[in-house]
Amino acid sequence: MGFQASIQLPVWISDGKLTGGFVIEKPILTQISANGPLLSVSSAPEKLNLLDLDRKAMEAWFVDLGEKPFHARQVLKWIHKHQVTDFDAMTDIGKALRAKLKEIACIEIPEIAVEQASEDGTRKWLMELECGNRIETVFIPDGDRGTLCVSSQVGCALDCTFCSTARQGFNRNLSVAEIIGQVWLAKREISPERSLTNIVMMGMGEPLANLENVVIAMGIMMDDLAYELSKRRVTLSTAGIVPALDRLKALSDVSLAVSLHAPNDELRDQLVPLNRKYPIQELLAACKRYVAGDRRKVTFEYVMLDGVNDSDRHARQLVRLLQGVPAKVNLIPFNPFPLTRFKRSSTPRIEAFQAILMRAGLITITRRTRGDDIDAACGQLVGRVADRSRRQSRAAERNLRNLETAAAKTVELGKYSFQRSK
Ligand code: SAH
Repeated sequence: MGFQASIQLPVWISDGKLTGGFVIEKPILTQISANGPLLSVSSAPEKLNLLDLDRKAMEAWFVDLGEKPFHARQVLKWIHKHQVTDFDAMTDIGKALRAKLKEIACIEIPEIAVEQASEDGTRKWLMELECGNRIETVFIPDGDRGTLCVSSQVGCALDCTFCSTARQGFNRNLSVAEIIGQVWLAKREISPERSLTNIVMMGMGEPLANLENVVIAMGIMMDDLAYELSKRRVTLSTAGIVPALDRLKALSDVSLAVSLHAPNDELRDQLVPLNRKYPIQELLAACKRYVAGDRRKVTFEYVMLDGVNDSDRHARQLVRLLQGVPAKVNLIPFNPFPLTRFKRSSTPRIEAFQAILMRAGLITITRRTRGDDIDAACGQLVGRVADRSRRQSRAAERNLRNLETAAAKTVELGKYSFQRSK
């Protein structure tokens, strides 16, 4: 049917928590808003994609239909536990209701366009959305553990200088169905040999920039009727949108990871431009608020960039910075991508950096690089983004200018050596 978008009506319940949004799949007639929920207007009769609804929203929807709310439990279980997308197979639901559901609702899962498997068992799926947009989802098996890395946006608007998703520019937020659809598909693809034990919102995009949909989707990940993950096993990773972090605390209690990457504002301003808006001290204060009254720690991610942020001095600065913050540190060896100016720190350098943190009593692990032979490692996810931020074309122009300068230099150099040899 061409380009699809959706109307999103988040539902607020009395305790102030956000519950599922009703999303109505529609052929788009208007533009999509850059940061907020997707918007479109159409008069065509539409079907509700039940993948967009969490338990509360689905109960409310059944009540609106004049049906009993317990059908929501049945349907959720069919969809997420039994992976059933055909209403006729939902045998504990009466025939009349099934017929009604078929008429007004659907269960639409994103499509897998390409699957890649790494030598180390990591699997990456490229999911096809509308209009040439594609997102990536990665499954990382590790012993009994199976971690799924889920995307929250098509592209990313943050422009962190060391991340290849940033190069792609930004198109839009993902709907709840598109976020939870990644989990649904991954579960289907890995079962029955493996199971999903952990989910990290560390794929493409900044999850706090798509807070409403991400919170609803994470609720489904933790629902006993769906993926049954505990709050310790669902982690949201953010570059640090401070006000959204406070809102997250009010809406959810998932584990928190923060992309720090530098021990001072001067350097972080360069690596994570969002820091210019929410500098380190504000971010750390928000992190403390997030885990206040809880024994959990915030995981600080720190990408190891050769000669940029990896010296002993940086390590000591980081120790001082994190004093008094309930923190764990996750060092991530930089994963290179074409045309990047950064290099991965050497293993001895990473070990020396880690040793300084550990001696100061900071729990520090170095993340093992997984799936880099299929570009599935941190920061290598690119999908395909119908860029609306013009970042791709600006980067292409920049590359062209660099190439031209390099070519001009080569010509000059050629002239020089020619003259010299004369
Ligand atoms: N926007 C969110 C989540 C996406 S990125 C965030 O910033 O946290 C997940 C993690 O991978 C982040 O810590 C990110 O900074 C890191 N990362 C990005 N590019 C990387 C690269 N090229 N090598 C290693 N880690 C990278």
